[in-house]
Amino acid sequence: MKPFTLERPGTPAEAAAAAAREPGARFIAGGTNLLDLMKLQIETPTHLIDVNRLALDRIEPTQEGGLRIGALVRNTDLAADARVRRDYAVLSRALLAGASGQLRNRATTAGNLLQRTRCPYFYDTHQPCNKRQPGSGCGALDGRSRQHAVVGVSKSCIATHPSDMAVAMRVLDATVETVRPDGQTRRIPIVDFHRLPGDTPHVETTLSAGELITAVTLPRPVAGAHIYHKVRDRASYAFALVSVAAIVQPDGQGRIAVGGVAHKPWRVEAADAAVPQGSQAIAARLLADAHPTSDNAFKLPLVERTIAAALDQAKSTRTRA
Ligand SMILES: Cc1cc2nc3c(=O)[nH]c(=O)nc-3n(C[C@H](O)[C@H](O)[C@H](O)COP(=O)(O)OP(=O)(O)OC[C@H]3O[C@@H](n4cnc5c(N)ncnc54)[C@H](O)[C@@H]3O)c2cc1C
Ligand code: SF4
Repeated sequence: MKPFTLERPGTPAEAAAAAAREPGARFIAGGTNLLDLMKLQIETPTHLIDVNRLALDRIEPTQEGGLRIGALVRNTDLAADARVRRDYAVLSRALLAGASGQLRNRATTAGNLLQRTRCPYFYDTHQPCNKRQPGSGCGALDGRSRQHAVVGVSKSCIATHPSDMAVAMRVLDATVETVRPDGQTRRIPIVDFHRLPGDTPHVETTLSAGELITAVTLPRPVAGAHIYHKVRDRASYAFALVSVAAIVQPDGQGRIAVGGVAHKPWRVEAADAAVPQGSQAIAARLLADAHPTSDNAFKLPLVERTIAAALDQAKSTRTRA
């Protein structure tokens, strides 16, 4: 690991200002992703800003009837919160489908959204990777791409976003709250938060330099069955090949977001509209512009079957009125 300096600011505004002062600085929360990347020298920050002492660890109701989740709320605490389990069960289920108990005890809401891809070529510093080293090429395009993206891909990168939690946040229409180094705050709808790779796959979100996530806000709960269905190579402790976050309302309308298929949680308005028509119609709309490789073309039928399983599960799940 490369040497680095460390500071522990007292407020979110101080943290953001500190990040702007030091060009090589990174925030560190649970450290479960960043420290691994530092040990492999994929990330080499010269300065770490430890945000763990900021007062961002509460879950509070909003005036609009939703919930405000502090950036430092641990994944375990968020999944176990009684309000989340009752009103946003898709989020609780997605969190519990991710990582392990020990990791969830450390991992934070903001860190989970910002975790980096699990593409093996990104982790292997002997391989070309436009995300790790812009302009070096993409090892996955001519290599093994079984786990990679099938929609929203580019000629520069076919990586997926690995977070389970983010897929649930997308189906819930969450909003990310931030503070910038100049003290300005802003709210970013989750649909605009993660970027597609285009020709700049190293730019993964719409955050600006030094911008700190302070919270994620959920709107009023949506009634219906909340399902998270994750398909993976092992029964636990594995990232999704395909995952589906679904909310099926009592009148048959619904919303679907899919993980494991794109550089961001994947949701398409036309696919939501097709929920009453069933899994084939939904998958056709979600995957209308799919460009799979020969290695990962199996994900297309797998998406349809995973949606079918989620809709089936919704029928037998107690719904929230
Ligand atoms: C073995 C293993 C298995 C896993 N399996 C899964 C899985 O199945 N599903 C899944 O979803 N995840 C999985 N994970 C990933 C895990 O969920 C993430 O590592 C974790 O959520 C990251 O949170 P953190 O707080 O530790 O982030 P950190 O490692 O501290 O930070 C991650 C990134 O977020 C930035 N950051 C942190 N806080 C802020 C903030 N407030 N504002 C701005 N930037 C910030 C950091 O600078 C860094 O770039 C796995 C991880 C491991 C190691
Ligand atoms: S898919 Fe993206 S992350 Fe993976 S090697 Fe290609 S550029 Fe790098």
